[in-house]
Amino acid sequence: MIWDSIRGHGERVEWFRRTIRRGRLSHAYVFAGPDGVGKLLFARTLAQCLFCQRHSNEELLACGECSACKQVMAKSHPDLHEVGRKSVKSSQLTIGQFIGEDETRGKEGLCYDLSRLPMAGDRKIAIIDFATDMNDATSNAFLKNLEEPQPKALIILIADNLDGLLPTIRSRCQTVRFDPLSTRDVAELLVQQELVAEPTEAAALAELSGGSLAVATQLLEHPTLRELRDALYQQLASGEFQSFVLAEKLTSGIEAIGGDAATQRRNALWLVRFGLEFFRAAALHLSDQPQGAIIPAAVSFARRFEARSPEEFEFVMSLFERVAETEQHIESNVSVPRCLEALCEDLGRKLCPARR
Ligand SMILES: [Zn+2]
Repeated sequence: MIWDSIRGHGERVEWFRRTIRRGRLSHAYVFAGPDGVGKLLFARTLAQCLFCQRHSNEELLACGECSACKQVMAKSHPDLHEVGRKSVKSSQLTIGQFIGEDETRGKEGLCYDLSRLPMAGDRKIAIIDFATDMNDATSNAFLKNLEEPQPKALIILIADNLDGLLPTIRSRCQTVRFDPLSTRDVAELLVQQELVAEPTEAAALAELSGGSLAVATQLLEHPTLRELRDALYQQLASGEFQSFVLAEKLTSGIEAIGGDAATQRRNALWLVRFGLEFFRAAALHLSDQPQGAIIPAAVSFARRFEARSPEEFEFVMSLFERVAETEQHIESNVSVPRCLEALCEDLGRKLCPARR
């Protein structure tokens, strides 16, 4: 079965099936949720089901054998258009991807593709991966497709963070939320995709992944990153946060992993995102809404706030926001060591006010 390759999102499959049976499929969706939980795979599978010649749309199934299915799998279906980052290093979707480069402006790109009649089926489907990488210019160029949708066009934006989308874009799409995967699903995927041979190693890695296959893969590729993450979590949970020790460990660790400036920046961003995950998990624990994979260190950190008062929740959120600030600084090219040092210092000040 086509949906068997998708883990943890069975409810969403059923939801789409019901929506289509009622004739209520919207023209635009945002698939929102953490990186590495299968949003893109879900979008492609949904497209394949809608194009499959052997199953009706209401069935929401795909045979994998008809020419439409084969074209979707080979990424050559004439009515399925996908844009995303051009390389791992680029973090911006270019205007050219939407409306063509200078010399072909208006005659190429996603907007042009969507403006034409379907060639094989009866609809066009567009998938925009990393939609939060659209800048104001690309967002505005694309907006018309949402404001005046083509009949039977389906547009799916994939975003790890809804706030990263322009409100004008967001308000015109229906949001479908994707939760982190369960630890078990991540572990099984690691083995199934032959990333890890030993189930016990897969389970240990999945435990650290926060429910994201992308994080698990990253940790697998960089054992040092895993160590740094453990050091970060241990410090945060310890109750005796040592800013200087942690800053030194993180900056020298990033350097030890090596790579060019862009790689170091990317690895530092991973660390910062681990920090975000930590405080997000702690905040969810405090608000009694534990979701997805649990970070044990974050739970023991959250236990310090026995009262579970709004003030305590606010305090944890202020820590989250401080880490989010660092994410922005690193993304806007501020020196990585300086960002990490400032972060550790501020966290230390907040966590151990007595030492001020
Ligand atoms: Zn088919």
